[in-house]
Amino acid sequence: VIKEEGRNEYQVFRHSLKEGVKEQMQLETELHKALQHQDFELFFQPQYDLKTNRITGFEALCRWFHDDLGVIPPDRFIPLAEKTGLILELGDWVIYEACRQNKLWQDQGMPKVKVSVNLSAKQFLRRQLVDRVRHILDETGLEPQYLEIEITETMAMSNERYIIDTLHQFEKLGVQVALDDFGTGYSSLQYLSQFPLNKIKIDRSFIQNQSKQNVAIVKSIIHLSHALNLKVIAEGVETEDDLKFLLTEQCDEVQGFYFSKPIPAQSVQGFIDV
Ligand code: C2E
Ligand code: MG
Ligand code: MG
Ligand code: MG
Repeated sequence: VIKEEGRNEYQVFRHSLKEGVKEQMQLETELHKALQHQDFELFFQPQYDLKTNRITGFEALCRWFHDDLGVIPPDRFIPLAEKTGLILELGDWVIYEACRQNKLWQDQGMPKVKVSVNLSAKQFLRRQLVDRVRHILDETGLEPQYLEIEITETMAMSNERYIIDTLHQFEKLGVQVALDDFGTGYSSLQYLSQFPLNKIKIDRSFIQNQSKQNVAIVKSIIHLSHALNLKVIAEGVETEDDLKFLLTEQCDEVQGFYFSKPIPAQSVQGFIDV
């Protein structure tokens, strides 16, 4: 009997594995098509300065609108795009589209703010990334200080020297750099002192579960950032309590559902209310 059950489990497992692979392959084919048909759209989530109560920028977050499957969240397609290499093409489009949109808002008279884009490791490690960004800024006419790139600690692990060189090139170009999801990777304090960064983003997991330990960690990250002359922003601010805590601890900026979910570009202007 045990043997029977064991075999069944194995078969069930093998079956679901096969289904999983098939689903991934289908999604991969769909991803190719989506790039050709431009089924992606950028949504924008505002970031606020706690001292001035003003919007300092918007994070651009990619959405995939699929005819049959509906909206596919980035957590499902970004890892796949990374695995297949499609992230390079998609990533170029994201940077271009974010810059184009921000310049358009500025031309329409909106107060000038930053737009942040998330970069994946593959994208960052690609040669000529800085040249591509410079080219996109030229083409769209966006001034470099209104573009921010978000990188994560995990990408820093592979090729530290190269990362530092690239970040220095971005610094020279005048593009801002933020370290995303801080505290979730293999955080090394050495990165903070060696990387030319402008901002630390505290990962939302520390804000959303305010255990005694997490409160201590958030306080420390804020103090550390300030000691290193870096701005610090908290992600995932959902409640007034979250906000009060961050105000007390003198966090510089906040981003989260308490203020706004990511919204489509056409909703941004009404939102900022010039
Ligand atoms: P991220 O860069 O850390 O972006 C923040 C994520 O948290 C977004 O999820 C945002 O919608 C969500 N969020 C913001 N405020 C709150 C809140 O108060 N509560 C909760 N529960 N969530 C909040 P989203 O848009 O689903 O993106 C997920 C991740 O996918 C991003 O995490 C980023 O790592 C990646 N991603 C999104 N767009 C791109 C892109 O264009 N390129 C690359 N390489 N990655 C992207
Ligand atoms: Mg981000
Ligand atoms: Mg993040
Ligand atoms: Mg993330």
